[in-house]
Amino acid sequence: MQRVAVLTEPDNVVLEDREVPDPGPGQVQVQVRAVSVCGSDVHYYDHGRIGGFVMHAPLVLGHETSGVVSAVGPGVTAPAVGTRVAVEPQAECGRCDQCRQGRYHLCPDIAFFATPPIDGSFAEYVVVPAHRAHPVPDSLSDEAAALIEPLSVALHAASKADIGPGTRVLVSGAGPVGLLCLQVALARGASPVVVTDVMALRREAATEYGATTVVDANSFDDGLAGVTAAMGQADVVLECTGVQPAVDLAVAATAPAATVVLVGTGATVTLPLDVLQSRELTVKGTFRYAHVYPAAIELAASGRIRLDDMVTSHHPLEDAVGALLAARRDPMALKAVVHPSSS
Ligand SMILES: [Zn+2]
Ligand SMILES: [Zn+2]
Repeated sequence: MQRVAVLTEPDNVVLEDREVPDPGPGQVQVQVRAVSVCGSDVHYYDHGRIGGFVMHAPLVLGHETSGVVSAVGPGVTAPAVGTRVAVEPQAECGRCDQCRQGRYHLCPDIAFFATPPIDGSFAEYVVVPAHRAHPVPDSLSDEAAALIEPLSVALHAASKADIGPGTRVLVSGAGPVGLLCLQVALARGASPVVVTDVMALRREAATEYGATTVVDANSFDDGLAGVTAAMGQADVVLECTGVQPAVDLAVAATAPAATVVLVGTGATVTLPLDVLQSRELTVKGTFRYAHVYPAAIELAASGRIRLDDMVTSHHPLEDAVGALLAARRDPMALKAVVHPSSS
């Protein structure tokens, strides 16, 4: 048997004993070492839903996962038992139009960890397709290997725009994904990279992670003046908040022909059609990622992305709730990590 932390209803996580899942054909079983908490986990904990994704039954949270391959199913030749892996938490159907076009993350039948009704990785063991268990070098810690997931979000978002040496990038929002987008933009040679946020502590964090300039986004006028002074106009915006005032500021700060990548998710926001048209802006949505885990692992292993520094607390599985509440209790918290197998 294994222990699993289950969200039975909003605000209630209980430990349960469940059968250890056996890997089927083409699958591997992973003993989970580290799971970093995502804003989406916290949202399910608080509300039991995110937009159209609604939990109708108990749900195991956690999708940012690393571990060690502990068993392999029939037909699996790699990765071998004992391999340390970052788990890409999605399994696609492999047959639909989107899958066949290579956009497996848009598969209508995608099974994604901790998205109802699919259980996540607040568990000692999970089973995933072998090709979604990506080997990591020993230079990456278990925590860093878990953070390959949000790094993949940032890499996928950055790949939607043309970011190279000298590209002026505005990162809107300095939460964990914003800080990863900042680091990815810097790794691609973007300059300057300006970061906006409403919270002073977050702006300080952005400075620490290499932002050229940080700008207080509390006032539209002062924020726009600050961004303009720092960078002129933005060639690329990576919008990581999903909230209206931040989107307004980010769009206002664009150069003609700029690309605005919407990373942050939220309820309905409005976009100014006149600005989109008169500047010929390109607006791109992003949803999770596809095909980026190997590149994210390589980038992290190169040392150009500070993942371990983003880990601000560690929790045994019994304290999954403490991990979910970490950001609320400590304004400096970035990433809380649950360690299911070591507790
Ligand atoms: Zn996440
Ligand atoms: Zn499909």
